[in-house]
Amino acid sequence: MRPKLLGMTPVQLKEAALSVGLPAFTGGQLARWLYTRRARSFAEMTDISKAGREKLAAAFDLGVTLPSGCQVSRDGTKKYLFPVACSRAAGLDAYVESRPSELEESAVEAVMIPDEDRRTLCVSSQAGCRMGCTFCMTGRQGFHGHLSAADILSQLVAVDEAADLTNAVFMGMGEPLDNEENLLRAIEVMTAPWGFAWSPKRITVSTIGVLPALRRFLDGTRCHVAVSLHDPFPEERASLMPVQKAWAVADVVDLLRQYDFTGQRRVSFEYTMFAGVNDSVAHADALIRLLRGLECRVNLIRFHKIPDAPYETSPDLVMERFRDRVSRHGITCTIRASRGEDILAACGMLAGRHEQLKNKDENC
Ligand code: SF4
Repeated sequence: MRPKLLGMTPVQLKEAALSVGLPAFTGGQLARWLYTRRARSFAEMTDISKAGREKLAAAFDLGVTLPSGCQVSRDGTKKYLFPVACSRAAGLDAYVESRPSELEESAVEAVMIPDEDRRTLCVSSQAGCRMGCTFCMTGRQGFHGHLSAADILSQLVAVDEAADLTNAVFMGMGEPLDNEENLLRAIEVMTAPWGFAWSPKRITVSTIGVLPALRRFLDGTRCHVAVSLHDPFPEERASLMPVQKAWAVADVVDLLRQYDFTGQRRVSFEYTMFAGVNDSVAHADALIRLLRGLECRVNLIRFHKIPDAPYETSPDLVMERFRDRVSRHGITCTIRASRGEDILAACGMLAGRHEQLKNKDENC
């Protein structure tokens, strides 16, 4: 497959230019077009000769994929659908090394959430997911492949709000730390002075706790982290999230205790409330014990029912009592507002219906 330029470092872009007989400084021009000006086509790169652009286009894929669909919620939330050809093999070069027959055509979603002066993009890192959480629509769809760094970055470049995005959260489809190398490359591009030059404080990576990769992520970046916790009791959590059998959440919390979250960097815990499953006083107390002494925040999330899942969301009153009990013990705990419910903005729901949406979507 042709290598994708989006996601390459300046050194790699220079090598790419040299490989097609263009001068080394074209690497710098490419970096500026890709990362500062967010070009979506070679044609826009007007300070590179037409012949040079043709040589580049013959040897490389720009890596920017435009969305194939979009829905707008009544509350302004926008959900984009992106076609992807992804590889089941992990690693930065997996896409390039794959034969076309080994790539799987799929679709992922990115959700833009406006909130006063913020524009946050919820980004996908994999097509489907292999973590198998029993309450998750994406998990139900199975695993189709890892996104390349270009496919991750493309979501940030190709949405209508690309120039106005203030934050990115890796909370879309997939487990980001299961696609570690492409995630870290995307974050490098997003935060490097030669890249998007974002502060790492603008980026949050959500994980269910892939422990070895989490350690490397914590050591290698200064981005915020959000851990999907959902149940403090090991056996119950394992029935919701099979990852618990490989990496216990208590070990994840122990790892987090080794890092400083009293300054700019933040850790939060996502806790989806399932009626009669994880919303009792005993659960709140176990959660308090688990997180005691760690500077963190807990976000309680309403569950959006998915087909054939035996779960219902907890009633508001139960959520409020749970929140108040956790808060009384010094842990900041909030009930997260639901956004984009009318366009199925909950995890994995758009891509799961992309065939229908292709026919029905309002274009935006
Ligand atoms: Fe994967 Fe996250 Fe869904 Fe679990 S909740 S199956 S990790 S996408």
